[in-house]
Amino acid sequence: MNIQVDVAKQARNTQTNFDVLIVGAGISGIGAAWHLTKQSPGTSFVVLEVQDSFGGTWLTHKYPGIRSDSDLHTFGYSFKPWTSAPIASAAEIKKYMGEVIEENDLARHIRYGHKILKAGWSSQDNLWTIDAVRTDTNEQLRFTANFLWMCNGYYRHSEGYTPEWKDMAKFKGTIVHPQTWPEDLDYKNKKVIVIGSGATAATLVPAIAADVAHVTMLQRSPTFFIPGRNAIPIAEQLRELEVDEEWIHEIVRRQILHNQAVFTKRAFEEPETVKNELLAGVRANLPEDYDIATHFTPSYRPWRQRIAFVPNADLFKGISSGKASVVTDEIDRFTETGILLKSGKTLEADIIVTATGFNLCTLGDIDFTIDGKPLAFGDTVTYQGMMFTGVPNMVWIFGYFRASWTLRVDLVADFVIRLLKRMKEKGASKVTVELRPEDKDMKILPWIDEENFNPGYMMRGMHLLPKRGEKVEWQHTQDYWGEKDRIPAIDLDDAAFHYEGKATKAKASAA
Ligand SMILES: Cc1cc2nc3c(=O)[nH]c(=O)nc-3n(C[C@H](O)[C@H](O)[C@H](O)COP(=O)(O)OP(=O)(O)OC[C@H]3O[C@@H](n4cnc5c(N)ncnc54)[C@H](O)[C@@H]3O)c2cc1C
Repeated sequence: MNIQVDVAKQARNTQTNFDVLIVGAGISGIGAAWHLTKQSPGTSFVVLEVQDSFGGTWLTHKYPGIRSDSDLHTFGYSFKPWTSAPIASAAEIKKYMGEVIEENDLARHIRYGHKILKAGWSSQDNLWTIDAVRTDTNEQLRFTANFLWMCNGYYRHSEGYTPEWKDMAKFKGTIVHPQTWPEDLDYKNKKVIVIGSGATAATLVPAIAADVAHVTMLQRSPTFFIPGRNAIPIAEQLRELEVDEEWIHEIVRRQILHNQAVFTKRAFEEPETVKNELLAGVRANLPEDYDIATHFTPSYRPWRQRIAFVPNADLFKGISSGKASVVTDEIDRFTETGILLKSGKTLEADIIVTATGFNLCTLGDIDFTIDGKPLAFGDTVTYQGMMFTGVPNMVWIFGYFRASWTLRVDLVADFVIRLLKRMKEKGASKVTVELRPEDKDMKILPWIDEENFNPGYMMRGMHLLPKRGEKVEWQHTQDYWGEKDRIPAIDLDDAAFHYEGKATKAKASAA
């Protein structure tokens, strides 16, 4: 996709009042734009994106080896077949998204280099006023929209999370975070430590192993991994039979989702068996005497954190080759030449990579107000992880962690289209969710159940996230298999939904 073309188009487009304003041009925002175009033609909308192109996560992250950790049949959209190997590089994902934009003429709706700073709701006008700044000219811009569709993801793109360790400043080498990887970083023949054990570390370590003098993955505690061939047998068979790609996409999606449902259920019902199976997969790919118990046996039950798929077992090949190793220990302090561990051992390094996660970011770091009053999202309760009590005309796409994020993009998008249609039918220009009388005694809890899923960035930022209620409709359950039936069946006339607006008011006064 040629960005020059996009910039030229956006320069000509000066419209500032829209029915819907979408925040972000990642996989969610582009999906939202597709759904609006196809399912609600005639709805005027704009996508505002702070970066210079589309892609979101897949544009921001540029570290060596950057790739998906879930399959692209389900991380891709339901409406556009994925035709390559299931685990894909950032470049392949961007190409796929570029095709969605091009094939559906979405570029004319997107304005890049637009950072949204403020969003204020006016109950007098039933409109959001959105203040943005152009990153190239610093020009202040004001937009209005009846409906705000938040597709901003869940973490701050400008900077990753790096803990403060003792004496970090004393280290004479280079410290980098994968999220802000310098494209000219020379790691050839260097000693590298990657701090972390998640998907990022597991991608980065094999990607640089061949070039570095040595790379050490330094982890405080181990993670579950699933090594496997980067291929889906049923897709290969169907391709051999020259079945249409649309069919293959649908069949493979169904198979993957079925297998994941079985796996997730088993992870809860027979965690020890699942754990042993996962460990056997790792053991099969490492030398016989390798210390799996220390380095690859997590203390939590499977699925409490995302399980990273390791395509073609590349991480384990790196370890087996001797170019990569794993150390499980805690950092005592940095030294001039590396890291001193709590065990007393030292690790020497020229480069230290802090693959230590993200800064959770609720709703795009935008200052929200409702009728002039600052809005604290931590004080609201979520409706199905999409809407928030007291916040009119707004939906956030917060995807799945256990299943592919994008499965929820399609589900939430269908919900938004239905909601916009219902508003139109009622002649309403405002819709809010509120707890119903029967919800008044419901227990109000943090956004996510720590027992269910507990990655570090969620735990650190939980107080910033909206609350959930005990009842399923007041939660983001992270359960695709429940939501795939529940979200399409939401009764938009349920007492949780409050519609207002000119036509409704007129009706009320006539009555
Ligand atoms: C390295 C990495 C690998 C991952 N791999 C997978 C995977 O394999 N499978 C999976 O399901 N999930 C994966 N995830 C989670 C991933 O973030 C989501 O799946 C998905 O890409 C999020 O898409 P999104 O469009 O909702 O948000 P993002 O990709 O975060 O995009 C949000 C966009 O909104 C823009 N934005 C935010 N605030 C503003 C503002 N104020 N003004 C203007 N623009 C704004 C951002 O610039 C960004 O472009 C991964 C995450 C990371 C970091």
